[in-house]
Amino acid sequence: MMKQSTELLDKLNRPLRDLRISVTDKCNFRCQYCMPAEIFGPDFPFLKRSELLSFEEIERLARLFVSNFGVKKLRITGGEPLMRKDISYLISKLADIDGVEDIAMTTNGSLLTKYANELKSAGLRRVTISLDSLDNNIFGMMNGRNVKVEEVLAGIDAAKDVGLGVKINMVVQKGVNETEIIPMAKFFREKGHPLRFIEYMDVGNTNKWDLKEVYPKKQILEDIHSVMPLEPIDPNYKGEVATRFRYVGSSEEIGIISSVTDAFCSSCNRARLSADGNLFTCLFASKGYDLREPLRTNYSDSELIELLSDIWFKRKDQYSVERNTLLEKNVVKNKIEMSKMGG
Ligand code: SAM
Ligand code: SF4
Ligand code: SF4
Repeated sequence: MMKQSTELLDKLNRPLRDLRISVTDKCNFRCQYCMPAEIFGPDFPFLKRSELLSFEEIERLARLFVSNFGVKKLRITGGEPLMRKDISYLISKLADIDGVEDIAMTTNGSLLTKYANELKSAGLRRVTISLDSLDNNIFGMMNGRNVKVEEVLAGIDAAKDVGLGVKINMVVQKGVNETEIIPMAKFFREKGHPLRFIEYMDVGNTNKWDLKEVYPKKQILEDIHSVMPLEPIDPNYKGEVATRFRYVGSSEEIGIISSVTDAFCSSCNRARLSADGNLFTCLFASKGYDLREPLRTNYSDSELIELLSDIWFKRKDQYSVERNTLLEKNVVKNKIEMSKMGG
């Protein structure tokens, strides 16, 4: 029997609300923590055109998620989503889906001066732009391609100028860019863009992640608080991954995404659709559920809904809660790379 949309809860009583759609596994950056250049070299076997879901296939799945599962937010990601040809056309199709309340994109910002305008016209509402430092030496090394800070800042301005909502993501890696926490906080406070600090995570298996390189949420807060006092504020909605803080006496805010030192799995309501049509129910998953084959073998909508319901119904992922135990036992989990699954 088909399970009813809004009542669909996973094994840990979590609903599905937020769908992240990866549109490509390619990227013009080689961030060390995500796609290290020594692994993602010129011969890396990126997905072929025929392996990618078409825009029609993505739209069909998104429509089913929205109309049958209570998904209200879509986020386009990758890889670098702006490297997918005609991405604004996909946005316009997704924006037309009844029930979609919000479409956002996570991007490295390098191509935004070119695309901000058409993205906004297509119906994109918000962008989260990743920038890890204001120092060109640090940033150039972290992005692995010597891309200049100014290029990303120009993208941020372009997004703001066309009226897109803007947030900034900064991954903090101990020994690499923690000295940039205060400069970044000051800069984006002044600019009026919420900045979210992300603890360096053990996504995938290629980044040689080490717990010693995690700069914890507690320390990030202490650093900022000692210069610009902070006070906690309520989440915008249930399941928000960033814990929010406001600079005392102002309306400007920051957020911290603490997957490593303060897990938030109990409220995780996200699913990720990879560019080749695999559905992942956790960022740290070892395998996805193939939806491309059913799509291409003419499953009906009700057959697809049944399949998706079963996937969510069986879900019991909570990797961040289990991480420490796995680390203690020296268990090395085989995880799909974030660039493939979608960040
Ligand atoms: N290319 C786009 C970008 O960088 O914004 C979208 C995809 S990227 C995989 C999505 C987000 O994941 C970015 O904000 C990035 O900084 C973050 N990320 C990637 N690897 C990470 C890691 N090992 N730990 C924490 N965050 C990471
Ligand atoms: Fe590319 Fe984003 Fe990964 Fe950096 S974090 S390599 S910009 S996909
Ligand atoms: Fe969600 Fe998995 Fe992250 Fe936990 S570890 S918050 S289940 S994506």
